[in-house]
Amino acid sequence: MAEKKIGRVIHRHNFSGMLELFRLAPEAGSAFPEYKAGQYIALSRDNCKLTKKSPGPDGETSYVYDLDESGNPKRGPVTHSYSISSAPFETQGNGYLEFYVVLEMIETGTPGRLSESLFKLDPDTDNRIYYMNKIAGEFTLDKRAAADRSVVMVGTGTGLAPFASMIKQLNFEAGRGSRSDKRFTLIHANRTREELGYHEELLGIEASKKLDFVYLPSVSRPTPEVLADPSLGKGRANNVLRHILGMELKEEEELRRAVEGGGDSAKAKAALERTVRPVLPRNLSRELLLRRMEAPQTVVITCGNPAGMADIQYIADANHMRFEKEDW
Ligand SMILES: Cc1cc2nc3c(=O)[nH]c(=O)nc-3n(C[C@H](O)[C@H](O)[C@H](O)COP(=O)(O)OP(=O)(O)OC[C@H]3O[C@@H](n4cnc5c(N)ncnc54)[C@H](O)[C@@H]3O)c2cc1C
Repeated sequence: MAEKKIGRVIHRHNFSGMLELFRLAPEAGSAFPEYKAGQYIALSRDNCKLTKKSPGPDGETSYVYDLDESGNPKRGPVTHSYSISSAPFETQGNGYLEFYVVLEMIETGTPGRLSESLFKLDPDTDNRIYYMNKIAGEFTLDKRAAADRSVVMVGTGTGLAPFASMIKQLNFEAGRGSRSDKRFTLIHANRTREELGYHEELLGIEASKKLDFVYLPSVSRPTPEVLADPSLGKGRANNVLRHILGMELKEEEELRRAVEGGGDSAKAKAALERTVRPVLPRNLSRELLLRRMEAPQTVVITCGNPAGMADIQYIADANHMRFEKEDW
């Protein structure tokens, strides 16, 4: 069992109220264990609002606040794993670990227990996070992409975290003369322009050309300003990938299947009407991207919530590409 230690948040950046990045310094007098890009660590706070199981009207279980005699949620510790978004060289040089975290909203419309507490952190007054002094995980390039020539990374939302770590580390190593011979393409989709974490840094790495690296940022809920900005992609990550590979959008496929099945297609039609059509950033053509995704030598590697990743797997399978994922 790993030792539990107390870290301190030394920097916090809020992207949107629902998405943040923070840096954690280790317990005084110690250092974080060494790690590889793509790994995770368990974090915990002890003032989280606790929940208990409650059977819903439809028989499904949901979680509601576990209240005390005064009607307030009971407080206690909650521990979860978080992918490290800093690169190993950054931790070696600066001591901290960095995280890219979303405020989880659970089925009942209330915030998740630990993420709510993480969003209340204040580097000056309430900055303690417990961590297990062990960094683990098999979601590393040597375990998931050792033999593939071409690596297509698909990060939806905070699923970018392990890929941010990997690309920063690869870029650092390339700068020291140890350039990877692989081709990396990163699709990162998030709801808004402001939520595209690491955007400037990834653009900078792409522009420096130390690596064979292409970055495709996409906004899934574009505002008129984003729609008018040709430097940004539009649409959800799965539909961007479908578009590159010449497939129907997910919602088009679902509508087609509903029509073919002879059932009620109204819901599928409405979903398609709401769908943001994929658009690539101006500097990236479909042809260029396709050349980076030749089937026998490509792995599609993704990270995030299981529902979002199922379609990425379907796309990879349909195009005979290898598929790897990190389930959260
Ligand atoms: C390897 C790994 C890496 C991850 N990396 C990241 C990352 O980089 N960034 C990020 O934002 N997230 C990451 N996550 C997700 C993270 O671990 C948490 O699951 C997430 O922050 C939600 O935690 P929460 O306490 O806020 O939500 P919770 O309160 O745990 O709610 C989440 C779900 O759990 C259920 N639930 C609620 N209460 C209970 C209960 N009492 N008992 C059992 N189930 C309950 C609910 O149905 C809800 O849908 C990662 C997960 C894994 C496994």
